[in-house]
Amino acid sequence: MRPKALITGASRGIGSRIALKLASLGYDLYLNYLNSDQDAICLKERIVEEYKVDVQLLKFDVTKEEEVKEAFKKIKSLNCLVNNAGIAIDNDLQSKSSLEFQKVINTNLLGPFLVAKYAAIIMDKGVIINIASNSVFHHSYPEGLDYDASKAGLLSLNHSLALALAPNIRVIAICPGWVKTDMNKDLSKEYKEQILAKSLLKRFAEPEEIANVVGFLVSNEASYINDTIINVDGGYYD
Ligand code: NAP
Repeated sequence: MRPKALITGASRGIGSRIALKLASLGYDLYLNYLNSDQDAICLKERIVEEYKVDVQLLKFDVTKEEEVKEAFKKIKSLNCLVNNAGIAIDNDLQSKSSLEFQKVINTNLLGPFLVAKYAAIIMDKGVIINIASNSVFHHSYPEGLDYDASKAGLLSLNHSLALALAPNIRVIAICPGWVKTDMNKDLSKEYKEQILAKSLLKRFAEPEEIANVVGFLVSNEASYINDTIINVDGGYYD
């Protein structure tokens, strides 16, 4: 029987690349998403065609416990969960509303908690990967203060989940640096230049470069990696 993985926010960006990577490793997939129906359908078709694994699309909002609970009725067992769904709403301090702040915290922190809570019930043994961000360590972008707070909270959640689920489930956080996805599509040219000046590799990551690390962490090669944070930022300083 093939191993099974659930990836949240898998319709686009990093999540879609993680889906392709895990399919290439022989995982049957549950692909969660929220709005991007067409992207999710195309990804499913591509994966089934290329890798001949089973793929089930699960459209639900990670911030809503009832929806998460309902989705888990369709999942019988799980070897891997990747908490990847995330959002950023950039705004200067005085323009940030409490609703926006809550939406970011709910998506990036409450969501991973809820999905891990239900995953833990059906995971006898396996790996949970939380996609956080290296912005936690740099804090150079106050327009994303809610985003940074959510990801800092996610690192704490990562540690607590590792304690709660030991010894059968390894729990690891990945902190990507800047990655070429829709999340960054509206950055100004000037800001991108500032970022590149602080990047030792002088470029954004391809989403595949994050997915490759997930591929390694779920493998037996990483069997002693647990309760830790892996930076995948190409070397970044400020
Ligand atoms: P992206 O391209 O904007 O994709 C975000 C994904 O999350 C989409 O599939 C979206 O689904 C899903 N999503 C958003 N809200 C959701 C919700 N409430 N319920 C379910 N799914 C939801 O983002 P990305 O750049 O790939 O980012 C993926 C993860 O990496 C995020 O956690 C992000 O914080 C983290 N990260 C990104 C970067 C970067 O530079 N891009 C750097 C560090 C960390 P729909 O489109 O279907 O709504």
